[in-house]
Amino acid sequence: MKIPKKYKYITTFLTLRCNLSCGFCLNDMDKKTRNSFKELSGKEWVEALNRIESRPEVPITFSGGEPMLHKDFIYILNNLKPSLNMDILTNLSYEKGIERLLKEVNPNRVKRDSPYASIRVSYHPEQMGDGEKLVENVKKLQDAGFSVGIWSVLYPSKEQLYSIVQMQFRCKDNGIDFRLKEYTGEYKGELYGNYSKYPESVSKKSKSCLCKTSELLIGPNGGVYKCHRDLYEQEFSIGNITDPDFKVEDKYRKCNKYGNCHYCDTKTKTNYKQKLGHASVEIKNVN
Ligand code: SF4
Ligand code: SF4
Repeated sequence: MKIPKKYKYITTFLTLRCNLSCGFCLNDMDKKTRNSFKELSGKEWVEALNRIESRPEVPITFSGGEPMLHKDFIYILNNLKPSLNMDILTNLSYEKGIERLLKEVNPNRVKRDSPYASIRVSYHPEQMGDGEKLVENVKKLQDAGFSVGIWSVLYPSKEQLYSIVQMQFRCKDNGIDFRLKEYTGEYKGELYGNYSKYPESVSKKSKSCLCKTSELLIGPNGGVYKCHRDLYEQEFSIGNITDPDFKVEDKYRKCNKYGNCHYCDTKTKTNYKQKLGHASVEIKNVN
């Protein structure tokens, strides 16, 4: 299964369950909904993912929810074919998962040549307090040879911004790479993020269009979706990764949910040349 040249990410949402409940979670859904997703077994994931032919700079990114909660997380890491690179997005707060990662996974397997860490840990002050324990866990992984860094979202609450500043110092003192991510979404009635490329995409007024993605998004049940909105709503899956005949295609698809797009899909970003005007999806023929 060849990944088209224009594709920039492959994200596998192993589970949408999470051991934390952050107020501004981007997978905006209640616990009952999160837990309702059927999950592929480790064996099914490995068989499906090992059919993928990607490029070194497009790893398989394990995400969630909290990916370490998947019952076969370690099995999946240890059985992904060597030609596929991997990244992990985690809150690094599930102790049992951390212990197993340290004991059972070769740090070099989760390491690739990239300008940022392969294991990207998210810091959520509201759930993690001052982050002392988080830093301790990151240090454990770093000392064992893993490539790991901490990221935090610039959620505009006073508490979050205060804690982030403290965390910057804590990370500096401990030799940990700390980075910030722009907040996209609403806060106190105000919309954060740049949607200048597709301003109507978050207007909540439905229109139809043609839409093309640059990301392979795979849900917990193996369903492939053309965007985060469809994935979180479990709607309009375009195939299943476990289907041996499934092909990843770089093409426009019809959508009648334009206006209800997820912030992550249509926010305007800079590309690798720092040029503004890029979004994860390309949209045309809106009416
Ligand atoms: S750790 Fe991440 S996935 Fe879990 S609740 Fe917080 S933001 Fe959501
Ligand atoms: S137009 Fe919006 S909702 Fe429709 S597929 Fe594209 S990103 Fe998803």
